[in-house]
Amino acid sequence: MSASALQQAQGFLDFVNESPTPYHVVSTVKNELKKHGFQELSERSNWAGKIKKNSKYFVTRNASSLIAFAVGGEYQPGNGFAMVGGHTDSPVLRIKPISKQSKEGYHQIGVEPYGGGIWHTWFDRDLSVAGRVFVNYPDTGKCVAKLVKINRPLLRIPTLAIHLTKDRYVKFEFNKETQFKPIAGLVNSSSSSSSSKPVEARDGCCKGEELTEEEFHSVKTTIERHNKELLDLISQELDIEPSQIEDFELVLYDTQPSCLGGMKNEFIFSPRLDNQVTCYSATEALVKSAADGKLAKSSGIQLISLFDHEEIGSLSAQGADSSFLPNVLERLTRLTANPQVDLTSELPSSYFLTTMAKSFMISSDMAHGVNPNYTENYEAYNCPHLNDGPVIKINANQRYVTNSAGIVLLKKIGNLSKVPLQLFVIRNDSPCGSTIGPMISAKLGVRTLDLGNPQLSMHSIRETCGSADIEKLVALFESYFENYSTLEDTISVDGVE
Ligand SMILES: [Zn+2]
Repeated sequence: MSASALQQAQGFLDFVNESPTPYHVVSTVKNELKKHGFQELSERSNWAGKIKKNSKYFVTRNASSLIAFAVGGEYQPGNGFAMVGGHTDSPVLRIKPISKQSKEGYHQIGVEPYGGGIWHTWFDRDLSVAGRVFVNYPDTGKCVAKLVKINRPLLRIPTLAIHLTKDRYVKFEFNKETQFKPIAGLVNSSSSSSSSKPVEARDGCCKGEELTEEEFHSVKTTIERHNKELLDLISQELDIEPSQIEDFELVLYDTQPSCLGGMKNEFIFSPRLDNQVTCYSATEALVKSAADGKLAKSSGIQLISLFDHEEIGSLSAQGADSSFLPNVLERLTRLTANPQVDLTSELPSSYFLTTMAKSFMISSDMAHGVNPNYTENYEAYNCPHLNDGPVIKINANQRYVTNSAGIVLLKKIGNLSKVPLQLFVIRNDSPCGSTIGPMISAKLGVRTLDLGNPQLSMHSIRETCGSADIEKLVALFESYFENYSTLEDTISVDGVE
């Protein structure tokens, strides 16, 4: 592997190891963007006069979705946008709102599956906790969201010994409510804070009118709902008192770091390849293509949109099926002509429509590389290989929205950047996944193509991809950002101007 490919692979390992949750992904991307001169915008304020040519910006929603864009120095209203879309979330186990449990002397934490994970891979892994915590500061009266990531194994979902199973695991099946519950420690006599029925024991105790304002809680306090030792660990991590924890969204993650693998480091063994490979590669490409000097000559807008909630269908305030991207695009198409004038009232909405008609979205999500032990599950003539480059995904039934116009464009970009591209179609007798591509193209009327790097074991807690493919995806996106404005004009689809 070349030194530059190794460098990009290493960059990705650092990225994914920093980012166990969508909140961490957004924070990691934000830090990278800020380091390279991107300015933060807020959806809560007016952007009139703030957006300037030859400048770069980002905005977040719910701190778990992010849109970043760079405005070319030659940009004129109505010019097309080159966009890359991806998602920040991965299948995971999330701590339940009331999670404190114990059984047979074990502390246990109640968890709820998020998305379609290969859940049996979560057994016997060294798990810990990460996420977002709302911290109450009584002196200021404010609640502030803080990220937390505990860096040591705390939990484990134990399998049953093979000697105790009747079928010797001919088929590994389990009940997701009763047998998929992590153990987090042992209840010893000195810390018997957990009872087996903590919730029922406290039900019906709140006669609000008899309590003072400090004593009354509309919802049980976090200390009542969750394991005390867990809250102590989180408080230590954040340097606060447990009583300051108002609420949280915490998930489990595998503490084994993402790493290179294979006899020649051909592979990356890692959690969350789907879809942090896109989050990393799109960010790197945008930073490179928006570097000083390059952006000044660009006549378009280069944009990345990284959405939460893809794994559960994208329908939320910050998912790909939300107003987030349309809202940002609408603001941009009305504001970017002249920084001295507030153009909100001067540019008609038709600018939005012409811009969308000239724009393009690469919907980037991981693809299925061929698994040598299961070749019968792949279409024989369309099975991608690791380290042979990004995969264009095609589906006649539009689960992927790639069409020939998009392929023509990507071929040109691949040729310019010397990045090989592979093609993928699912077997006719197999179900097909989908991506954010169909919903974004339908919502915006923007030409879209589905593409992504090949990987094995998609949605396992530990996935595998090719280490040399990271550099290829970065190079492809970078070339797309830099050349789209020129190439767009050379592909005639509807035949009229
Ligand atoms: Zn995905």
